[in-house]
Order: sequence, then structure tokens, then C-alpha cells
Amino acid sequence: MQCPYCQHTNSRVLESRSSEGGQSIRRRRECLNCKHRFTTYERIEFVPITVIKHDGKKESFDASKLLRGMVRACEKTGMTHQRLETIVDDIEAHLQQRPQREVTSEEIGQLVLNYLREENEVAYIRFASVYGRFKGIKDFLETLDQLQEKPVTSSVTQWQKSSAKDLSNSDASTCLSLSQNGSVKKVKS
Ligand SMILES: [Zn+2]
Repeated sequence: MQCPYCQHTNSRVLESRSSEGGQSIRRRRECLNCKHRFTTYERIEFVPITVIKHDGKKESFDASKLLRGMVRACEKTGMTHQRLETIVDDIEAHLQQRPQREVTSEEIGQLVLNYLREENEVAYIRFASVYGRFKGIKDFLETLDQLQEKPVTSSVTQWQKSSAKDLSNSDASTCLSLSQNGSVKKVKS
């Protein structure tokens, strides 16, 4: 911090304390060159972030909107509201730290997925399917395959069994594959 008296750039901090109800830090400094004392305030800088949606339209990043979407997608997955709030805070902090002021909705979706994948696979799959990350049933099954490579909890295994049943409407020996025209057909293994 440049000294306001002699423009020297080095100073030492004599005292730091919270100010403006915790919104800023007030620091009393002493110039190492001329020994004059001066005060600085440190605040978190909030710069609006613009989200570019799939259709190319732009809107301001809205943390509460993201949270509502995540709460809806993560119902009955064991994710607590408090944990989702923390994730949204982390994502917002991450976006604030980036040099770019624009972010695509897809990037935000990917950030959410990165968090959910780490801690709750059921929530991860639910969010991914709700937000259309899967281009088709093939992507969905590939995601399930990737998850099966990791140790899974019993609740996930249960969910995968029931969803596999929903998808194929048949027993476990039936799997799904994509034919060349993109339609889904059942293949006996
Ligand atoms: Zn000075």
C-alpha cells in the first residue's frame, strides 16, 4: 500500500480490526520510510457475474436461484439444505475469483456436478439428469458405469438397480444398447 505522504510502497501494520459490522477490515499502518501513519480498509469486492444460457441469452448470476434448482434436484438424496448452501457459496466464491466476468450455464452445471460427485452419487445422477447433462440414454449408462468403478454405497446400488429396472423394464440380464439410428433396443446378454 503506497504511503499517502511520501508514496513509499512499504508499510507495517500496527493494528487490524473488524469494521462496518464485519464487512471490512480496518488497518492502521505506518510508512517504513517517513513513519507517517495512515488507515486502510479492506473489503470483499463483489462484481456482478453474467451467466450465458444455452439459448445465448444473458442474465446475472443468482445464487438463490441456483440453490433452489439444487434443492429441487437433490430432494430425498440425503443432501442437507445447509450443505447445498455451502456448495452454492463455494461456487459463487469460485466465480468471483475468476478473471472472467461471464460464465456459461453449462460451466456452472459442471461445477455443481463436481461437488455432488465427490459427496453424494445419487444427488449427482439426479442433478445430471434433471439438468439434461445426459444427451441420451447412452450417456446415462456410461455415467452409471463410471460410478460402478468406484466403491458404491448400498443406497446408490439400490437406486441403480431400481433405475435400471425402470429403463429396461426387464430383468438384470437385459441391457440397453444404441442402434445406429439412435433408437434404443434391448439386447440379451
Ligand atoms: Zn511515507
